[in-house]
Amino acid sequence: MTLGSVISVLALSGFTSSALGQANPERTLIRGAALVITMDPTLGTGPLGLIQNADVLIEGDHIVAVGPDLSPHHAEVVDARGKIVMPGFVDTHDHLWQTVIRGCEADEAFGGWAAGCTNPILNEKIHHEDAEAFVRLGALATLATGTTTILENSHAPTMAFADGTMDALEASGQRFVLAYRFRVGREQHVRDIYTNRILPNPLANFEVGGPVPSRSPAALADLTAAITIARELTTKVNIHILETAGDRANNPVSVLQDVGAFTDFDGRLVLNHLIHTTDAELDLMAAHGAAATHNPMSNMRLASGVMRLPDIHARHMKVGLGFDGGTADTPDMFETMRSAIGLQRATTHNPKIFPGVEDVLRMATLGGAEVLGLQDQIGSLTPGKKADIIIINPNDANFAPRVDWVNQIVFNGQPGNVEWVFVNGNTLMKKGKFVGADEQAILEEAQAARDRVMARL
Ligand SMILES: [Zn+2]
Repeated sequence: MTLGSVISVLALSGFTSSALGQANPERTLIRGAALVITMDPTLGTGPLGLIQNADVLIEGDHIVAVGPDLSPHHAEVVDARGKIVMPGFVDTHDHLWQTVIRGCEADEAFGGWAAGCTNPILNEKIHHEDAEAFVRLGALATLATGTTTILENSHAPTMAFADGTMDALEASGQRFVLAYRFRVGREQHVRDIYTNRILPNPLANFEVGGPVPSRSPAALADLTAAITIARELTTKVNIHILETAGDRANNPVSVLQDVGAFTDFDGRLVLNHLIHTTDAELDLMAAHGAAATHNPMSNMRLASGVMRLPDIHARHMKVGLGFDGGTADTPDMFETMRSAIGLQRATTHNPKIFPGVEDVLRMATLGGAEVLGLQDQIGSLTPGKKADIIIINPNDANFAPRVDWVNQIVFNGQPGNVEWVFVNGNTLMKKGKFVGADEQAILEEAQAARDRVMARL
């Protein structure tokens, strides 16, 4: 911890306790954590901003102080002794609705998986309440692994599907980005969602998703329309690109160039998977500030390939981690971080290749926030940022004893080690149990929805 940060932390804590001076149920003190990973190098030691034996004070929706021995004055105290406190995980790419096809087509690459699992149902067969049930379950599963922010890239085959998705995202209590897969003719629907449901909701954010870029007339029309509405709303554009080797045949980067996705969306283009790229394409993407999402569990499951993460990092592109829906198959950020490391090591035989432990922890938190453009709000425990925080209990059979907790989070961590989850200052998980979510009801609704959809086939 630097002297300046000690002073700022103490000043902040002093300010809050004297300014409030009376009972305020909206203050929570996470007290006595054995280790706080702030992800803010100005607050603690090393690139992850580590602080031993420290507290985190939450007031309302945001963090007001991080440091040792903060005053519990009128705060609800959460005992974090022996535990690790860190920013919640940011899932930068998901399709939560795909809980409906968990475990489907276990031995197929993308084409066979889509043909067998998603194509038969990705139409009017999924009704509003079905999409809601699937997304609600998917979101709950990400919460269980400490995910406080989700990006839902919604295929939105119908407007009812998109509405059900919004209902579920709102009900989750998690921070979210809806990346709405746009189609010609949906302009007013998107404007309505954006104006009536995204802008008034402090947890809601929006991007325009487009189809996989190709020169087929239908895809090109949807992509062009997506770019147009994204210009109008000044949002990011979210695209799947070069996930499979076969995607090269469509030269999707040239398609994006032709519709202005690079020049007109400097710093506002998010590219998912980005596996089968050339050096020149990476140069172009980096030059326009395109961000990338890495989905290692999906890439392994579908035999898609290995993202050129070291080359992308060398070009200073922002990269976040994602679960990618049904191909993950279970959202587990610990496994995702391990896999991001393991894929590069296994293919290069180099244990020092990017990413290392600190790199994946950053990608899973602040790096992901940067990909979503939310780095001023979340991703680190910097006072003033929103209180999106998790508490990890390392005193478990898969994790103990204490050797190097930072390494252990990545190599030993499991969702079951996540005990507390706070989003925007609200407690969504407490001592390993969901708060405000009826898990059994959510499971039953998802099963009933799955049965309804299958009956319509
Ligand atoms: Zn995807």
